[in-house]
Amino acid sequence: MTYDETNIFAKILRGELPAKKLYEDDYALAFPDIHPQAPVHVLVIPKGKYISAADFNAKAPPEELTGFYRAVAHIARLMGVEESGYRLICNIGPDSQQMVPHFHVHILGGKKMGHLLAASA
Ligand code: 5GP
Repeated sequence: MTYDETNIFAKILRGELPAKKLYEDDYALAFPDIHPQAPVHVLVIPKGKYISAADFNAKAPPEELTGFYRAVAHIARLMGVEESGYRLICNIGPDSQQMVPHFHVHILGGKKMGHLLAASA
């Protein structure tokens, strides 16, 4: 599977679609999810062209891996959920219903969440 340059998050990275930047550094960009599922619902994406977490974890150089995952932790702190706790979600591929084929981590928090996601049969 090749990276689709027309995906929504690629357009946000290129500045072709608007997004409220909550955080940006060399490795990551964070913005609010357009359909929030919790009081805090932030999407964090890497700057490079990776389809999913599996693609990113397999192919990104160590500096990008470290920079990105450190940014995720930093953003959770910035969003004020470090102490109260939060959930990270990465959907990978069709069964997870990944909608946007550019790797992204969802940071969800700001309320008590269910124990795990219900995987409906
Ligand atoms: P996925 O199902 O791929 O893990 O999640 C994609 C997420 O992107 C969804 O939660 C959806 O609400 C969000 N999303 C889709 N289009 C846009 C957009 O144009 N802007 C923002 N900020 N979020 C989007």
